[in-house]
Amino acid sequence: MTVEILLAREMGFCWGVRRAIDLVEKATEERGPILSLGPIVHNPQVVAALAEKGVQVTSSIDGVSGVPLAITAHGVGPKVLEEVKAKKLEIIDTTCPIVTRSQRWAEKMAEDGFTVIVYGDADHREVKGVLSWAKGKGIALAEGDVPSLSPELLSRVAIIPQTTQSPVRFAAFVGRLLQEHLGQISELRVINTLCNVTASQQAAARELAQEVDLMLVIGGHNSANSRHLAEACREVGAETHHIETAAELEEQWLAGRKRVGIAAGASTPDWAVEEVVRRIRKMAPK
Ligand code: SF4
Repeated sequence: MTVEILLAREMGFCWGVRRAIDLVEKATEERGPILSLGPIVHNPQVVAALAEKGVQVTSSIDGVSGVPLAITAHGVGPKVLEEVKAKKLEIIDTTCPIVTRSQRWAEKMAEDGFTVIVYGDADHREVKGVLSWAKGKGIALAEGDVPSLSPELLSRVAIIPQTTQSPVRFAAFVGRLLQEHLGQISELRVINTLCNVTASQQAAARELAQEVDLMLVIGGHNSANSRHLAEACREVGAETHHIETAAELEEQWLAGRKRVGIAAGASTPDWAVEEVVRRIRKMAPK
């Protein structure tokens, strides 16, 4: 019995990640080695390949001097930018324009007197960055946090989602916030900063997950985008494994499977997908 391998109709590197990689590669060609403030993408294999080309990662700007510094596609807050400028470091800004848009909205809504709720993972770099543009008038929330909101935060509220969140979950979050707190809210602004690439990759993965008997989502374990893809597949009932590399594939997962679906996060290179396809072909029972 051969295993049929089906690829999601949309997957892999998004234009924001391609743009960030192109910018840092061009910078190293023109200026020599550079530092990036955090990994350029949430994919250790891509980060390792970039390191060979001269893009080293630093987790902090303390002690950094005399070398160009790349801001990643996730963006940073105003305080970090001020620190970088004070050190007179050359900035290579690869912030994804969609993230920049979220940051501008957070700044504007806070200036207009709204409490800014950033819906997403409070520990994610993009969320931290967007939140800091609200300059103390914002809060990061996920689904479970809605009931614990205090009334003073709720009078005028602007909600901004992390760009890679699932549209379905974001809509549910907004609905729940309204259901539980409508009496306290005098004005609500919902700013749709969801990324179309993420939404269409999730839709494609969901669609494929309903046609196969096993889904593999390929992407960095530290990639929120890839985790959300795997969640989207599980939501439609598909057995789903999130793997970073072909080496994590387990033979037992393939036992008795006829159709295996593959989706990949926005920070996953094509070669990582090709390696998984090759390994499935080797492992699959003939
Ligand atoms: S997933 Fe969307 S928001 Fe994130 S880097 Fe790619 S294009 Fe930009």
